[in-house]
Amino acid sequence: MDCLFCKIAAGEIPSKKIYEDEIVYAFYDIQPAAPTHFLVIPKAHTMENCAQINEENAQIMGHIFQVIARLARQLGLEENGYRVVTNCGEDAGQTVRHLHFHVLGGGPLGKMA
Ligand code: AMP
Ligand code: ZN
Repeated sequence: MDCLFCKIAAGEIPSKKIYEDEIVYAFYDIQPAAPTHFLVIPKAHTMENCAQINEENAQIMGHIFQVIARLARQLGLEENGYRVVTNCGEDAGQTVRHLHFHVLGGGPLGKMA
């Protein structure tokens, strides 16, 4: 499958990796929208976006959010807070059709659009 994030998770396209395990891969966004901006993705391309979360794949979401919480803590975002965003579809501006969560922090973020 010709998917940018599948290739990043497989190491075929370089990225600034923060963390990986069997299920998820976390790396810095190439165009940061905050002082700290990283992405957490499931390695498996089973969901294009959060509209495809269902009973069968929901377990992975708990793991993703545990990883987000741990990495945010390790990267020093916990004290002042951070934002977790997932763009779902066209109107949200989703550009990569492989489920991913943006984690933004490291300074005031301003209001959501
Ligand atoms: P979205 O607009 O929610 O689909 O987010 C896709 C994100 O992927 C954007 O914030 C991009 O800056 C980011 N991105 C695109 N290509 C790369 C790459 N090669 N490495 C890291 N992040 C990327
Ligand atoms: Zn993919």
